[in-house]
Amino acid sequence: MLTREQIVEALKLAERAGIVLVCQGRAPGGYATRTVSAEDVAAHVVGEINLPALLNGLSPEEYEEWIRLDGGVQCYAQTKAKRRCECLAPGGTQRNAQAWKQLNETKPYCTIHGG
Ligand SMILES: [Zn+2]
Repeated sequence: MLTREQIVEALKLAERAGIVLVCQGRAPGGYATRTVSAEDVAAHVVGEINLPALLNGLSPEEYEEWIRLDGGVQCYAQTKAKRRCECLAPGGTQRNAQAWKQLNETKPYCTIHGG
């Protein structure tokens, strides 16, 4: 396995040869592509960061949930079986990451649970 520094060095050689580094990360409805630095790619490759999550301003756990729910926010009510309700809060899916994060942090309920 290459070290982080070796990966950065190789990627910078590629950039000097005209290569543009991009991260094509999953997003609701498909993928989002953004240019990234050699340092960020290397940090992702060695497992120091989750680059798609970071680019969207989300923690890795938030990013996984944002993708899994296609930009919808899961209800925070607890069911009679003591599990988190699997319905979505009103407003549908396909929210961008920051709109999703803002709503998720309010711990909303679905319409059945009074949301
Ligand atoms: Zn609910």
